[in-house]
Amino acid sequence: MNRVRLLVLNAALGPLDYKLPDGVSAPAGTVVLAPLGPRTVTGIVWDEGRLPGREFDPSKLRAIREVLPVPPLSEPLRRLIEWTADYYCAALASVARMVLSSGGALGGPATMTEYRLSGSEGSGRMTPQRKLALEALVGEQGTIRELAGIASVSEGVLRGMVNAGLIEPLTVAIDRPFPPANPEHWVPELSPDQAEVSDRLVKAVAAREYAPFLLDGVTGSGKTETYFEPVAEAIRQGRQVLVLLPEIALTENFLVRFEQRFGTPPVLWHSSLKSTERRRAWRAIANGTAGVVVGARSALFLPYANLGLIIVDEAHEVSFKQDEGVRYNARDVSVMRARFEKIPVVLASATPALESLHMASTGIYERLELPSRFGGATLPKIRLVDLTQEQPGSGRWLAPPLVAALEDRLAKGEQSLLFLNRRGFAPLTLCRNCGHRYQCPNCSAWMVEHRLSARLACHHCGHETAVPDKCAECGEPDCLVACGPGVERIADEVAELFPEARVAVATSDTLGSPERAAEFIAQAEGGAIDVIVGTQLVTKGFHFPELTLVGVVDADLGLEGGDLRAAERTYQQVAQVAGRAGRGAKPGEVLIQTRHTDAPVIAALEAGDRDAFYEAETEARKDAGAPPFGRWAAIILSSEDEREARAAAMRLGDTRPDQNDLYILGPAPAPLALLRGRYRYRFLVNARRSANLQKVIRGWLDAHDFPPGLRVGVDIDPYSFV
Ligand code: ADP
Ligand code: ZN
Repeated sequence: MNRVRLLVLNAALGPLDYKLPDGVSAPAGTVVLAPLGPRTVTGIVWDEGRLPGREFDPSKLRAIREVLPVPPLSEPLRRLIEWTADYYCAALASVARMVLSSGGALGGPATMTEYRLSGSEGSGRMTPQRKLALEALVGEQGTIRELAGIASVSEGVLRGMVNAGLIEPLTVAIDRPFPPANPEHWVPELSPDQAEVSDRLVKAVAAREYAPFLLDGVTGSGKTETYFEPVAEAIRQGRQVLVLLPEIALTENFLVRFEQRFGTPPVLWHSSLKSTERRRAWRAIANGTAGVVVGARSALFLPYANLGLIIVDEAHEVSFKQDEGVRYNARDVSVMRARFEKIPVVLASATPALESLHMASTGIYERLELPSRFGGATLPKIRLVDLTQEQPGSGRWLAPPLVAALEDRLAKGEQSLLFLNRRGFAPLTLCRNCGHRYQCPNCSAWMVEHRLSARLACHHCGHETAVPDKCAECGEPDCLVACGPGVERIADEVAELFPEARVAVATSDTLGSPERAAEFIAQAEGGAIDVIVGTQLVTKGFHFPELTLVGVVDADLGLEGGDLRAAERTYQQVAQVAGRAGRGAKPGEVLIQTRHTDAPVIAALEAGDRDAFYEAETEARKDAGAPPFGRWAAIILSSEDEREARAAAMRLGDTRPDQNDLYILGPAPAPLALLRGRYRYRFLVNARRSANLQKVIRGWLDAHDFPPGLRVGVDIDPYSFV
């Protein structure tokens, strides 16, 4: 039978049947182009009998147009696509799009033009600009744009030099292979604890079986060095490795260590790759020549030819959860992928998610522990600063004990880090005269003042305006008051207290690109910064040996609001940022400013008693039927038309399923009732583990026809409750 059923990359279409032209074979997983009306669609040949659809009269079938020159998607990957779509109530096509995520790669090998100095005298005048370029471009090769950047001249100058014969074009294959990582390049000496853990993981890689691990190691224990050994083992076996990192812009430190260990950088995958880099990486991953891939969560869905190991580093991080499109959690999907691929997966963290710890304590994951810091460094001492007793001066946010500790470090020439998870200068700006509050026109959120860029910005949709010089409401000049602190304001306070201190603000605004992050790290390591003021961006990965003081400006901040994981997240953030202190020879100290010294999470942080915190949190989750003991799902209906959104929510509410193993809250306006110009209504579903949550939700939603302007988003195991 030469009929095939395609999963087409268009969520609005179901599976479609085609016939194969004579002599063409297309096993399941083959990527093809097929005609659809006057258009062409990309599709994947799916396994016989696994996609529902009508049987078509075979004589009416159209033939597929072309088999694309990429390896067929493997069986484990096809099962992963099905599982992900099913679990997260997403369209199969939307998941498949994350696999075929480089349009260019599907077209087969390609070339591009690069340029370099020709070495000849050339013709024409030697201008100062040309001279500059000749000096700067020795040994360089790249596109005109890249070379213009290197030489700091315009692209026009370089094009002139091409015409004059000073610079020559050459054709290079976009898909040139990546240099292979060398597993024996530099093998570190592991501590006995590290060696025990790494031996276990190396064995698991050799065994080539599904094996999930929780690598639970304190900050500074050398988790990276430890998991590099199973990575090396996979490379020796000729298999691929995927390392997922939460914040790809800040992988500098990781890349340095990787290159030290393996002699070459890994293959990178993240959203800001250029399209040529993307297709090169995609093709190398698909044909198996990319040995070790380091990526953001989207790297999880790539078509690895020969995957042997998955590492999820900082596995507790919220950024592994995608909150738009297919709302998946890369941590959980990694485990599923390992299961389908029959390989080990390692979730590494100093502050694992409660869900992961639960899996370890029930024996589903094997737990591996690194209980102490590498090289004899000790964990920092933690001290609470009770803000109800020790008050900062008026208009200030740093209480006397924290100021004294900063002063002490400055005197000793050591570094300090102040943590506040709020970008900008102040979270709210209002008019002193009329009380007008600056709100985003597209979102139910305040505009945040950024003094460094002199803008008011919405942190939800990115809307920006200049800071007005008079009130938008009453017209009074110079009357804006900043309410509450952001990191920029804390940095100002430090500068006022200690004018000689060198202060750096570290947030996604100031370290947005890998280059700026690298520059910041070089400065901090080189001792050019005394005080770092940063958001959650500085809580992970950094290793500054001279940093001996961490101040948490407001530990209560994360506990406000309706987030079901607030306590856990506060614990993780504070424990992680505390973990930046005293990583070198000098011991570290952590001061936590709080108004709630008796809150369980704060008390546990002070006592350094992680187990006590997790036990209390486990009980609370049990009582609330929250994960891992019960499950949550959010359904958000949104429309640009408020009435349409509300009406649809009411109608859906009228047909809510009535079952005793789940209950449904809502509809109610979502906490962010307006987002990017769309009005949002929300249902929250809380289910016992016995309920088939996805099936219930699908059945409930499928019975409705929503108007075209209405969007329905389903979020299974949500992390965001706005
Ligand atoms: P973690 O990720 O567990 O917080 P790191 O992996 O950052 O800890 O390790 C802390 C520091 O100790 C790093 O600078 C790392 O290079 C160093 N280190 C850890 N293990 C070793 C080892 N076996 N040999 C040499 N240096 C090590
Ligand atoms: Zn906005």
